[in-house]
Amino acid sequence: MHAIRKTLLAAVAVALALSMALLPGCSGITSGTPNVTVSASSSATASPLLASVGDIPAYSGAAYVTVNNSKPFFTADELASAAGTEVYGELDALGRCTGAFAIVGTETLPTDERGEISSVHPSGWQHVEYSFVDGLALYTRCLLIAYSLTDEDANECNLVTGTRSMNLAQTDFEQEVASYVRDTGNHVAYRATPVFEGDNLLCTGILLEARSIEDNGKKVEFCVFFYNVEPGVEIDYATGANKLAEAGSATYNAKLESGATVSGSQNGVTADGTPIIDESVTLAFTSNASEAAYVLNTKTGKFHTPDCENAASISKYNVKYTTSTRDEIVRAGYLAASCCNP
Ligand SMILES: [Zn+2]
Repeated sequence: MHAIRKTLLAAVAVALALSMALLPGCSGITSGTPNVTVSASSSATASPLLASVGDIPAYSGAAYVTVNNSKPFFTADELASAAGTEVYGELDALGRCTGAFAIVGTETLPTDERGEISSVHPSGWQHVEYSFVDGLALYTRCLLIAYSLTDEDANECNLVTGTRSMNLAQTDFEQEVASYVRDTGNHVAYRATPVFEGDNLLCTGILLEARSIEDNGKKVEFCVFFYNVEPGVEIDYATGANKLAEAGSATYNAKLESGATVSGSQNGVTADGTPIIDESVTLAFTSNASEAAYVLNTKTGKFHTPDCENAASISKYNVKYTTSTRDEIVRAGYLAASCCNP
């Protein structure tokens, strides 16, 4: 992946400014929150300062990087937008999201469960599964502004195709904002801008900016770029097409939306060092922990001795108890955990 250039961000800023100023069909569809105002007139929406972001470094293994010393680019006018403002930029000519801005407050928080969003197929969308991806699906419908903040569900102007890892990486930031608003009743200016290179249908990443209003950013302030990547998977951002990365030429099981499946296997390690498990090597499992010869962590690809205390703390979703031999486990691709060195 190339470094994202200043010019690209400038282009994004212009697109965002334009689309939000025009404020078309997608503007602000707020489900179940009657007090929310959708502002079209406020300059709250333009983001010319994105042009000064400068180069965002190419992905090098970290899920996100802070930008501009984590200082968001909101203008004074944007920060002065009315409480409850929500603006969702219109899709561009290629059907891509252009960004979303909100003044998040108690009045924008959801009051009910999130609705179904599977009807929306964001640009670059496809359903593909890899055995080593948390939850299996490579892509999720990634909300630009989280449901927990503005109660949006199937709003196509607020949903992009994002990798599982990118979606997870944003969670802490979204929760920080939601907790702050709930605990204080204060407001947070919040903007999510997907960054697309050229005509790519899959965004390179999302720039997330937030600043608490009443305390002038004392409690909440960040400006962070999240990479739309999944370790172990090579992604073609033009289309969203994907395959196992070279380093991880291993077990995968891609179920395409058409219903077709492709699969293959070979021992390997993903780009972040997680072993890829060869599921064609048959291991014997038991549900009785006391019978286990070894304990497997299917998420990290490590195996432990049954008496290792780290083995006891593996999530029930990731733990497997095996009666297979050490050789078989290693052949399947698991690595010995350094804590107990089984
Ligand atoms: Zn251990």
